[in-house]
Order: sequence, then structure tokens, then C-alpha cells
Amino acid sequence: MKSAPFAYHDPRTLDEAIGLLATCQNSKLLAGGQSLVPMLNMRFVLADHIIDLNRVPELRFVRSADDRIEIGAMTAQHQLERDPLIAREMPIMQDALRHVGHLQTRSRGTIGGSLCHLDPAAELVGIASLYDATLRIAGPQGRRDIVMSEWSLGYMMPALAGDEILTGLSMPIWPQPHGHAFLEFARRHGDFAIVGVSCLLALADGKIMRAAIALIGIATAPVRLSSAEMALIGEPARDQSFRAAANEARKLVCLADAHVSAEYRQHLAAVLTERALKLAAARAQPSAQEGPNAAVHST
Ligand code: FAD
Repeated sequence: MKSAPFAYHDPRTLDEAIGLLATCQNSKLLAGGQSLVPMLNMRFVLADHIIDLNRVPELRFVRSADDRIEIGAMTAQHQLERDPLIAREMPIMQDALRHVGHLQTRSRGTIGGSLCHLDPAAELVGIASLYDATLRIAGPQGRRDIVMSEWSLGYMMPALAGDEILTGLSMPIWPQPHGHAFLEFARRHGDFAIVGVSCLLALADGKIMRAAIALIGIATAPVRLSSAEMALIGEPARDQSFRAAANEARKLVCLADAHVSAEYRQHLAAVLTERALKLAAARAQPSAQEGPNAAVHST
């Protein structure tokens, strides 16, 4: 099927895009089109105006500023997958990106599109949650920021007014050394995750100093395992600590759908959390700082 007729606009600046969004009733912003175009073609979305952001250069960037990484909303997933700054400071994002769709979809799909489409199992949305990202928004009323924990208003509902544009996101860089791990379970490579877990760990003298654990596919938005993160602080980086965190994951209230039951999602959350923490702890060891994939230490 093809989309219903629409008027096409291709602004060259963010201000022009905001102006169009304010004047064109029933419009949709086009980024990589990897989600919007299928929805237009299946007539899940009926837009009178399509405002194409692909010719707005100010929305496409990756840069570091004040121990933070700033990424423009229109930055393509495949660009992030190859970016040297991301490789150095946020390798977990590149690990996660290898699970996002396929090379073909990543060459068009953007980080802003992932965040605004807000699929509950979107890997980049999980990474933004893991880093407590700040999302940058622009509209006719000016600019505003929103923290990632307040971004989802419900299933695929970002906290974005109809006349606003996500311009980018900002994430804090974790000081080195720290360990990272992204693991997911999907029916086929390139499918959305059934459950995915991303975690960061910082250790000192074999003890956990700082932990962040984010799960995708569990609920309508990413879930931070805050209770486990707090409980891990000061604990030895050992199997027993990781098993306790996994037990917290097993308590999560999970979605059930046509793919798997809520109980199976809880099981996956627990198993993947324990494995990810072990891998992150192995990578956090000073010896592992030379080579990213040390053997997983079991103690
Ligand atoms: P678009 O499709 O252009 O837009 C998506 C939505 O966001 C639209 O509503 C649009 O209006 C809005 N939007 C876009 N940019 C902005 C902005 N700057 N401000 C405000 N609103 C905006 N994704 C995954 O995470 N994991 C997967 O495993 C995965 N597998 C896929 C497999 C296939 C075969 C395909 C086709 C897609 C898959 N995707 C997957 C989705 C893909 O990552 C999309 O790129 C992503 O969901 C949307 O990004 P986009 O740039 O294409 O956005």
C-alpha cells in the first residue's frame, strides 16, 4: 500500500523547520524514515504535511563538551557505529548499535528517530536511559531540556509537543576505567529485542564503586534497576553480588505479548543482567583496560 497524499517540505535550517511545524496542520517530521515510512505506507499515520529534516545540517553532529558527549538528533545510527569519539568514550553504544536492525536500516535511521519513535525495545533508547541522557528540544516557545527518565509518557509517547523538534541529546562520559556490557535476546538478528540489558560498572580494589543497569523490552519505556544499582555499591565484584542484582531484575513487572510471557521476560531479565554484570566487571579490571574482551572472571 502507499501513503495517503501529503505536501512535502525540505527545510534547510532548524528555525525553518520549526516555522513549518507551527504552520502546517497535521504534519510529521521525517528523519531516517525507517519507522515513519512503513507507518505512512500502512496508513497507520495519515499526515497532510511531511517535513523532511535530512537537509538541516545543524542537527547532525557528534562532539564532546565538558565531560559530556553531545549528539545531534539527525545523526545516523551507522555514523555513530563508526564514530571514534563514541568508540573511545561510549563503546557500549556501538555494541548496542550492532543489534539495531540491519546495516541498511542503520545507514538511514537516526538516533533522534529512535528516541522519538520510542519503541520499548529500542537499543538506543536503552543506552540514553543508561547514561541518564538530557534531551534537547526546540519549538516556537524556544528551547528546553528534559531528562530521559521523564521522556516517555506511555507506550511510544515521547514528552514532545506537536510543534516541537528533538534537536539532540547530551550524555555524561563515565571516567575511565570502567566496564560496560550490552546483551540482548531477540528472535532473529536485527529484530527488536525481546529483552536487552546494558550496564556500566566502576570498580576500586575489587569493590563496586558505581553501577548503572538499564533494561529494554520489559515495559513501555526502559527500566533502570535502581535498587540493584544502589545495593551493588561497596560490594565485591563477585558472582554473589551479580546474582543479587539478577534477583532484583526477576522481580520486575514485565510486559506479556504475542512473543513471550511476562514470566519468561522476568527470567530473561535476570539471566541477562547477571551475565552483563559479569562481563562489565571483567572489562572494568585494570588488566582488561588493554583489551576490551577479557575472559569473564568467575569468583
Ligand atoms: P523516522 O522513521 O523518520 O521517524 C520516527 C518517528 O520519530 C516519527 O514519528 C517522526 O516524526 C519522529 N521524529 C524523527 N525525528 C524527530 C525529531 N528530531 N524530532 C521530533 N520527532 C522526530 N530499531 C531498533 O531500535 N532496534 C531494532 O532492532 C530495529 N530493527 C529494525 C528493523 C527494520 C527492518 C527496520 C525497517 C527498522 C528497525 N528499527 C529498529 C527501527 C529503526 O531503528 C528506525 O530508524 C528508528 O526506529 C526510527 O529512526 P528514523 O530516523 O528512521 O525515524
